[in-house]
Amino acid sequence: MATLFTKIINGEIPGEIVYQNEHVVAIKDIQPMAPVHVLIVTRAEIPGLSELPDAGDHTHILNAAKKIGEQLGLTSGYRLVINNGVDAGQTVPHLHAHLLGGAKLGGFGEEGVEH
Ligand code: 5GP
Repeated sequence: MATLFTKIINGEIPGEIVYQNEHVVAIKDIQPMAPVHVLIVTRAEIPGLSELPDAGDHTHILNAAKKIGEQLGLTSGYRLVINNGVDAGQTVPHLHAHLLGGAKLGGFGEEGVEH
């Protein structure tokens, strides 16, 4: 059974794709926590960071984040977050990183934009 993100990638349910390559697809988050909030999703249905295979090239999310940051003009910075497992509040079991930016962000561990 396809995950929510795979269904978006396949166009079965709507989603706004802002970047894609052979390894990852980046989708605008439906409930943004910053002016820019993009989910960088692996095309492979890896449930989470804990299930990432030991072998292989795992730089795809980082490389995509750099490109998306440039593409979206986030010259003053952005944050990359991966929630892994229950304690981190992961809700979609398909490996993804949150790219947050477009405003001055709160400190580490705080949510969203600084007030
Ligand atoms: P997690 O909590 O697993 O780290 O992140 C899951 C993210 O997926 C959340 O930020 C949530 O807002 C987002 N999300 C949940 N359902 C949808 C959806 O149907 N479309 C999009 N674009 N994002 C979604």
